[in-house]
Amino acid sequence: MSKKLSVRDLDLKGKRVFCRVDFNVPLDGGEVADDNRIDAALPTLNHLAEHGARIILASHLGRPRGKAKPELSLAPVARRLAQKLDRPVAFAEDCVGAPAGTAARSLQDGGFVLLENLRFHPGEEANKEEFAAELASLADLYVNDAFGTAHRAHASTAGVPGILRPAAAGFLMDLELEQLGRLTGTPESPFVAILGGAKVSDKITLIENLMPVVDSFIIGGAMAYTFLKSMVHPVGKSLIEGDNLTLAKSIMQKAELQGKRFVLPVDHVVTLGDDDNYRTTANVDIAGVEAGADIGPKSVELFASVLASARTVLWNGPLGRFELEQFSNGTRRVGEALAGSGAVSVVGGGDTASAVRKFGLAERMSHVSTGGGASLEFLSGLPLPGVDALSDA
Ligand code: AMP
Repeated sequence: MSKKLSVRDLDLKGKRVFCRVDFNVPLDGGEVADDNRIDAALPTLNHLAEHGARIILASHLGRPRGKAKPELSLAPVARRLAQKLDRPVAFAEDCVGAPAGTAARSLQDGGFVLLENLRFHPGEEANKEEFAAELASLADLYVNDAFGTAHRAHASTAGVPGILRPAAAGFLMDLELEQLGRLTGTPESPFVAILGGAKVSDKITLIENLMPVVDSFIIGGAMAYTFLKSMVHPVGKSLIEGDNLTLAKSIMQKAELQGKRFVLPVDHVVTLGDDDNYRTTANVDIAGVEAGADIGPKSVELFASVLASARTVLWNGPLGRFELEQFSNGTRRVGEALAGSGAVSVVGGGDTASAVRKFGLAERMSHVSTGGGASLEFLSGLPLPGVDALSDA
């Protein structure tokens, strides 16, 4: 991927800038419940304001599916953002048409307007040309700081930067590409990839793309049961992907042929019918009526021993059903081992990012990505339309 133009390179004074941000934040009772994503955009927003740009902010929120849904309005985000920036943030009740046009024209240098939810219009997700042109007509320049939606070819991420040039990356976008890029370039070895979560199928392309650079794969979460079953270990009622058993086996064979370690759990915390009824297994085998919900203590030790000598680590996917306290130990302990390992530690977004934040480990990681799907696709070697659309540096 060629290096992209940065917001730092733009001449901003008096220019209207269409800035795509990721303000897809959780709301609770009409207020912002978690402002991590707002905070992540502040360096770019402050830079734009300090350099005299007239800033038009655009984001999606939730899944309104092309219709205006008052409960998915970005109005509460505008209020929270104004507090954070300590400046007024105007709000346009529609992202196109008269409300957006009037708000954009009224901006002074250093002023902000946040447009209403882009996804209230079907043209956003469909990347409709007319819709992209309407958005583009509001501004002179384009900046994308929404790494979390960079894997989507939507009007605001791919259509608008095709029209508004130059199109630059914001600081968060730059940071994500640099940090995740460290893993696909020439990472310092030993490079360990910890993969977990629910499905093998979601991570196949990732495993294949990382195979040439990784020294060891550590596999936990429900994913592990498909691999264990393919080795004919009994996995009881654990979640597996029956269609992917042959594939799981061939991935492990490929790893072995290339001299890569493939580390699977050696014990488990299993449920016996319901979530309040659980036990730790003595070894890798799971009895007929039981279902694996977390890795066991011996697996934690094994995984921690691999991490102890690692120099670079990618972590994507929780190692158990960490949302429940009784199945959170594996994810928490392995997270602690990673935090204390001294390795460059990069955490893929989504559930894994929530887990490290929940366990108070985020500050101890080298980088916690703000993009779940986007980080997975980037590390899987897939194109990111939102990045490809930007001007080259
Ligand atoms: P993913 O979206 O693929 O990263 O999967 C994340 C989800 O996997 C989380 O919600 C976890 O609760 C879930 N998960 C992790 N381990 C297990 C397991 N052993 N059984 C069922 N679900 C799991």
